[in-house]
Amino acid sequence: MPSVYARSLNIAQIKESATLAVAARAKALRAEGRPILDLGAGEPDSDTPAFIRRAAQRAIDRGHTRYTATEGILPLREAIAARATEHCRAHSGADVGASEVIVSTGSKQALFNACFVLFGAGDEVLVPTPAWTSYYEMIALARATPVPVMGDAGDGFKVDVAMLERAATPRTKGLLLNSPCNPTGAVYTARELRALLELAAARGWWVISDEIYTRLVYGAEAATALAISEDRQRLIVVDGVAKAYAMTGWRIGWAIAPRAVVQAMGALQSHTTSNASSISQHAALAALSERALADEFIGEMLSRFRARRALALAILSGAPELPVIQPDGAFYLYVNVLAAAKGIGATDDVGARVAEYLLEKYDVAVVPGSAFLTPDWVRISYAAPDDHVAEGVERLVRACRERC
Ligand code: GLU
Repeated sequence: MPSVYARSLNIAQIKESATLAVAARAKALRAEGRPILDLGAGEPDSDTPAFIRRAAQRAIDRGHTRYTATEGILPLREAIAARATEHCRAHSGADVGASEVIVSTGSKQALFNACFVLFGAGDEVLVPTPAWTSYYEMIALARATPVPVMGDAGDGFKVDVAMLERAATPRTKGLLLNSPCNPTGAVYTARELRALLELAAARGWWVISDEIYTRLVYGAEAATALAISEDRQRLIVVDGVAKAYAMTGWRIGWAIAPRAVVQAMGALQSHTTSNASSISQHAALAALSERALADEFIGEMLSRFRARRALALAILSGAPELPVIQPDGAFYLYVNVLAAAKGIGATDDVGARVAEYLLEKYDVAVVPGSAFLTPDWVRISYAAPDDHVAEGVERLVRACRERC
């Protein structure tokens, strides 16, 4: 029977998340018995550490199973604020208070809610591109216009002040930053970030800084907007426990924002999801409070990522036809497949053709660059077992060569 459903205008343009779609497809094929090497999912392959799991079990046993305040339990907001204050002290010394923190169902909800309460019809939001697929959709769901600002591939696709100035119009209302960057792994230096924040401040733009990968870096510590900004009047910093603490399924993220913005996000959240899971909030509190255990876990996970990153880069260095962005953070490699994939005969969306071919013929899942508005590329996640990373990257090289 034909469906009577017609999309409402709210989602007339929406596309399903390509990152989640790749992960779902890889899982489905595995369930059918195909030995898929999943280099698609942006998800640590470690289990959540035992001390965090125990905190969640204790929370259940102690009856922390009811509604919490919409904006999150106070001890968690205080722990988040205390962390943020450490960054601020390094610079301006202005403390962050718990009233400037809202806890949400993953950093994804924090990002969406921030976009929804700050932007609307007629507003333009600059998005350094390539960027995580959901930014563009979230801005559009707020009925604002995402304006991709293409960085220079030779410089990790990072954008500079001149690029943002060229893309800005009188309707520009915000800038969405993400360093370390998904999908490139590029990391802005403090100097680069400061220049962008100064421009935004001078123009009166809101800045949303997605800092979910700041704990996952392979060189110098990642610069954070809180540590750099002169004031926080138009700054929203979004972070969460998913990546650094291997807690993707627990769905705990947060925003640090001016009080009025936190209140608006809270009002929105009070009508949509209410509080994030009470049990997960207690688990996140343990992740942030038990510093020694958390640091040990992150250190070990990071050394595994570092080894896999080196392994993958070594394989790609033998395939100069597949240029890769120097990844200083996160757990992604962004690879240009345009030249290598000539033989496939695709003239557009080359990354998608390569990703499809790689999955069908070589059982390797990667995310096509079109998800990040750069269709000549594919994203490889090396948050996967060593042998999967090595074998998967080798198959990518082989697949591209075979078709040339
Ligand atoms: N952020 C991760 C990724 O890019 C997880 C999936 C998602 O939420 O997009 O793969």
